[in-house]
Amino acid sequence: MQRTGRGLPPAPVPSGTGWPELRSSQDLECDGTNPSSKRPCVLGDHQGYHRDEVGAEWLDD
Ligand SMILES: [Zn+2]
Repeated sequence: MQRTGRGLPPAPVPSGTGWPELRSSQDLECDGTNPSSKRPCVLGDHQGYHRDEVGAEWLDD
């Protein structure tokens, strides 16, 4: 008895990695500037009050 070997079909190969590129939110910088002292915000990405290097806080608007 002989087998008409056709072999197995090739396994599917995933194309590409498909992974989204994750970035830390800490990479984002806040571009806020203290309206009274003109110092830039040092908090990076954040919500709420801005804060400059001397600890002064302010809100936009
Ligand atoms: Zn800020």
